[in-house]
Formats: sequence, C-alpha cells, structure tokens
Amino acid sequence: MSTLEIRDLQVTVDTEAGAKQILRGVDLTVRAGETHAIMGPNGSGKSTLAYSIAGHPKYTVTGGSVTLDGEDVLAMPVDERARAGLFLAMQYPVEVPGVSVSNFLRTAATATRGSAPALRTWVKEVREAMDRLGVDPAFAERNVNEGFSGGEKKRHEILQLELLKPKIAVLDETDSGLDVDALRVVSEGVNRVRATGEVGVLLITHYTRILRYIEPDFVHVFVDGRIAEQGGKELAERLEAEGYERYTKLAS
Ligand code: ADP
Ligand code: MG
Ligand code: MG
Repeated sequence: MSTLEIRDLQVTVDTEAGAKQILRGVDLTVRAGETHAIMGPNGSGKSTLAYSIAGHPKYTVTGGSVTLDGEDVLAMPVDERARAGLFLAMQYPVEVPGVSVSNFLRTAATATRGSAPALRTWVKEVREAMDRLGVDPAFAERNVNEGFSGGEKKRHEILQLELLKPKIAVLDETDSGLDVDALRVVSEGVNRVRATGEVGVLLITHYTRILRYIEPDFVHVFVDGRIAEQGGKELAERLEAEGYERYTKLAS
C-alpha cells in the first residue's frame, strides 16, 4: 500500500515583486485507501500545495520533503511523478491542440504504465469508463479541452483518474466553476476510485458542498500556509455551519 508523506514543506512563489513565502511547514500523510480533504480560506495556499507536488515551475520548495513510498518526489522530473503513481490533474496542459481525448488518454496511460496498453482491451476500458461517466462516445474524438465546458473538463479529469489508476490522486477542486452536474461527476468518479481501496485521495476544496457527496476520512484546515486544525468528517460539518472566520481571526 502506498503512502504520500509531506514533511515540513515550505514553498515560495515567484511574483513580480520577488519570492513570496506561501507554505510555512506543511505536514501531511496520505495512505492508499484514505480520502483527505484540505479546506481553508481563499489564499491560504491550498492550490500552492497541489502545484508544488506537481512540480509547477513557479513554485520553489525551500524546505521540507515530499516522498511517495520513500522516493523523493521533489527530485523527480514532472513526467516521472506521474509514472511513480501520482495523479495531479493540474500538471496537464490546459489545451492540447489537435490531440483527441482518446489519443491523449492512451499517451498518458502509456507514460504512466511504462508501455502502451493493448489496443483491444484499451478501447474497451475507455468505452466502459466513458459509459460510467455518462459521456457520449463522440467525446473521445474531440480535441482535449478545446471548447470544453466546465463539466466536460471535469469528466475528462475523472476519465484520466479512472483509467490511469494512480496510487495517490491530488484533486484541486477550485469549486467556483463547478455546477451541480460537474460536482456529481467528480464525486461519483472519486467514490468509485475510492471503493477500490487502492488509491489515496487528497481533495482540495474551499467549499464544503462537495463533501456532501464525498465523505472524507480526514479533514485538514489550511490557514496561512499551514494546517491549523485536523479532524474527521465532523470538522467539515462544523466548517459548513461556522465558516472560516474563526481561523482567519486567529491568523491575523
Ligand atoms: P488557495 O488555493 O488556498 O486559494 P493559493 O495557493 O492559490 O491559495 O494562493 C496562496 C497565496 O499565494 C495567495 O496570496 C496568492 O495570491 C499567492 N500566489 C499563489 N500563486 C501565485 C502566483 N502564481 N503568482 C503570484 N502569487 C501567487
Ligand atoms: Mg484561491
Ligand atoms: Mg486554490
């Protein structure tokens, strides 16, 4: 069983005014089979955590470590992180001109599995995954992200998640663009992947809404670049009732 371990992670972001400290010592362990929710006010560094794990060039790790089953993730080139079993939706380009969903998925599967999946079983796998998501077969022939609606982007993300079978999935649900339909798609996909018991999920979200569909095993509240409180799903329920005000007062 796989484990993602984040220890005392410190990260700066490059801005026009210079490097700005965002993460100030994040400690978090995600094991296969567990679902963790990271919640917190806007600007608390939730997405920075996701980008740092993905290896986004704008974010510089200045201290701490991230390991997957003991392997140093931060030392890996970005494509190797996917091969190692990390699913980081945001590491993929926003638009891939001239590449169909079908080809994109096969290329991604080839990269993560180390060899091209046999065409016959692959076509079946993709069709079944699309079926489960209620996606029209024509979707496979569309170019990646070209004119995709918010819901279609999410379906594409969940298709990847289900087909690539990662060890640990980091999903940054920026929420704002998610309508009820997209929420349902994400939730059902995550719950299916979760039911295998083989994937650890790190679900990053500002709103408690999605947690009505996905019950996290652990909830971490992010404030000012570090985890300010941890608990079980009851913590999400409390946040839904009380909001983040309590924490932002503490931070200021
Ligand atoms: P969250 O996802 O919790 O809303 P972010 O990680 O997006 O928080 O942002 C944390 C802080 O870092 C914010 O103050 C934001 O303005 C700053 N920040 C993040 N990414 C960048 C960037 N690429 N350029 C400049 N500032 C950034
Ligand atoms: Mg934000
Ligand atoms: Mg964010």
